[in-house]
Amino acid sequence: MYYIGAHVSAAGGVENAPINAHKLNANAFALFTKNQRQWVAKPLTTESIEKFKQYCEQYNFDKNQILPHNSYLTNLGHPQEEPLQKSRAAFLDEMQRCEQLGLTKLNFHPGSHLKEISEEESLLKIAESINWVLEKTNGVTAVIENTSGQGSNLGYKFEHLQFIINHVQDKSRIGVCIDTCHAFTSGYDLATATGWKKTWDDFDQIVGFKYLLGMHINDTKKELGSRVDRHAPLGDGLLGLETFKRLMNDSRFENIPLVLETPEDDKWQEEIALLRSFISK
Ligand SMILES: [Zn+2]
Ligand SMILES: [Zn+2]
Repeated sequence: MYYIGAHVSAAGGVENAPINAHKLNANAFALFTKNQRQWVAKPLTTESIEKFKQYCEQYNFDKNQILPHNSYLTNLGHPQEEPLQKSRAAFLDEMQRCEQLGLTKLNFHPGSHLKEISEEESLLKIAESINWVLEKTNGVTAVIENTSGQGSNLGYKFEHLQFIINHVQDKSRIGVCIDTCHAFTSGYDLATATGWKKTWDDFDQIVGFKYLLGMHINDTKKELGSRVDRHAPLGDGLLGLETFKRLMNDSRFENIPLVLETPEDDKWQEEIALLRSFISK
């Protein structure tokens, strides 16, 4: 079964996210469990947590098809000790929020070397950060997102994801989320049938499909290998609808959350319906 949704608003409380997702006829969704642009947030209230769980049950959202997204501020590969510790503490807080909500995954951008240390040194710090957080939590899997590789952001090659996974001790609680816009702009040609096949063959060989725990479904405004991250509505970008038809007829993408992060939220309901219409079996 395919699980399709969008990164919905949790304004006014996390309990609003399942309501917003239900309005889109989604059966998956993403959310921020705190303001994504602030370091410190108030703890979730018992009332909010209970309501969140209640709405998820009422609207039939499976906890494994909900993919919360980490704050944009953390850098788990930060070259300097103080900001690295601050990032780790913030990441721990987000993992604990997921635990409280009964969720099983937390999606995050790996981090940046800021041109102060090598890619490998920064990737090792990321893996250490993950190990540190996994030791302090239970039941939530850390899900690394691939990136466009803008600036000094890591995670733009499948090898980066593999390197991090290799250095994580508890392999049962590490996974990846592939963003289609990020993959294309980092140089993986998902827009052609041959490119599609090659990209996923490479992914399987380098990372392995068993680690694929979610997808971000976005078209792109920027070119193949441009390393610039600009999402576009489905069909309005360089990936095109054929790419998403391929995705919706490839059983390797079943049973994981497929989450839209396209820029026009008034199109989400339509985009979800469109993706469902592509499923031919
Ligand atoms: Zn992201
Ligand atoms: Zn994404």
